Amino acid sequence: MPFDPIRSLAAVRHEFGEHGGVNMSIEASTTFTVMHADTMPEIFGGRVGPESEGGGCYLYGRHFNPTVYVLGRYLAALEGTEAAYCTASGMGAIAPTVMQLCSPGDEIVASHTIYGGTHALFEHFLPARAGVRVRFVDASDPAQVEAAMTDRTRAVYCETIANPTLDVADIPRLAKIAHARGAKLIVDNTFSPLVVSPAQLGADIVVHSMTKFMSGCSDIIAGAVCGTREFIASLMDTHHGALMLLGPTMHPAVAFDLALRLPHLGLRVAEHSRRAMLFAERLQNLGLPVWYPGLPDHAGHATLKAIMNEGFGFGGIFGVDLGTRERAFALLDTLQNKHMFGYDAVSLGYFETLMSCSGASTSSELSDEEQRAAGILPGYVRISIGYTGDIEDRWRQFETALAEVGALTPARR
Ligand code: PLP
Repeated sequence: MPFDPIRSLAAVRHEFGEHGGVNMSIEASTTFTVMHADTMPEIFGGRVGPESEGGGCYLYGRHFNPTVYVLGRYLAALEGTEAAYCTASGMGAIAPTVMQLCSPGDEIVASHTIYGGTHALFEHFLPARAGVRVRFVDASDPAQVEAAMTDRTRAVYCETIANPTLDVADIPRLAKIAHARGAKLIVDNTFSPLVVSPAQLGADIVVHSMTKFMSGCSDIIAGAVCGTREFIASLMDTHHGALMLLGPTMHPAVAFDLALRLPHLGLRVAEHSRRAMLFAERLQNLGLPVWYPGLPDHAGHATLKAIMNEGFGFGGIFGVDLGTRERAFALLDTLQNKHMFGYDAVSLGYFETLMSCSGASTSSELSDEEQRAAGILPGYVRISIGYTGDIEDRWRQFETALAEVGALTPARR
C-alpha cells in the first residue's frame, strides 16, 4: 500500500492529558527531576532519553521537552521518518541541520531557487562563519547537480516546490545523485506538506517552516526537522548537537497549539489547492503568464504528478507575472486596499490570501543577476490563496483588479 500521511498520523495521535483530557497537557517545566542521581549522567551521555523503557527521561527544556516531543512524533508520522523534532522557526530547523552535517571545508550543492533567507544563509553566512561552501545549481537539471558534486559534498539541498517559482524537485533522482557520492538529500517541504512525502522518495532529511500551512493562521513561527532517529539524536547531543547547542528549540505551548492544527491540515491543503487550481486555470484562460504546477504546461507538472500523494491537489500557491514591478505593486495595492481580497504580505499557508512581489520581498536577498538565473521576473507576484469567502466572489475581485491595473489590455497579453 502506498504511504498515506493521514493514516500514518492517525495511527500515532492518541494522547490523553492529565485528568483524562482529550488533548495532551502542556509540560511547561524547563527542568526535570531524576528519581536516582545516577540517571543524570546517563541522560547527558545520550544513553537514556524520551523513549527509554519504563517511561521517558527528560533533562532540560532546551534538550527534549515532552510536549514538543509529542509534536515531533506527529511530524515523523506525517513525513514517514523514524523521528523528528520541532524548532523555534523554519530557519531554526534548516541552519542546525546543515551545520550538523558540515564541517569547515565541506560543501553543499543547493538549488538556486530556494527561499531568500535560506539562500542568504547559504551564500553569505555559511561560507563566512562556518567555512562551508555552497554551490548553487539549476536542480531541475540533474547533470548540473552531478557536475557540482565533489568529495567534500555533504548534502544536496532543494525545496519540493520551490519558493517562489514553484519549480518541482525530482526527489528520487536527486536522492540517487546525492547517495552515489555519499551525501544526504535535504528537502524543504514547506510549500507541500501532505502533497509530497519526500522521505518516501529517498530524501534523508525533511525540513519544514511550520509557520506556513501547518500553522495555517499566520500567528506562530515554528519549524521541524524530520529524519532518522540517529540524526535527530545527533542534533540533540549535549556535546556536539547543533540544535541543543545553538538553541532554537520550540516552546511547549507552541507545540501544543500546532498539535491541534495537524488533524485538519489535509482538509485545509486540499481546499487551498482547489482554489489555486481554479485561479491558475482562469488566469491562463485570460492569457496571463501564470505559474502553477497543477497546469499541464508547467515545467514541473509531470514530475509532481509522478511523486505526489493522492487527494491534496498541487498545492496552494501560484504565481502570475504582471510584466513590471509597478504593475505588480498596483495590483497588490488594489487587491488589498480596494477589494479586501487579501494581504500584501510575505509568508504563505494562511487561511486568508497572502500576496507579494517576490523580487521585491522574499527573494530580495538574491541579486538581480541571481533572480534572473532563478527565473524570478520583476513583475512576478506570488499568491498563497486563502479559503475564506465564496470562491466566485474572490475570482470576481481578482479579475476586476487585474482590469483596473491594465493587466488585461490586449497589449499586455
Ligand atoms: N523555507 C521556506 C520554503 C520558506 O518559505 C521559509 C519562510 O518563508 C522558510 C523556510 C523559513 O521559515 P521561518 O520563517 O519559519 O523561519
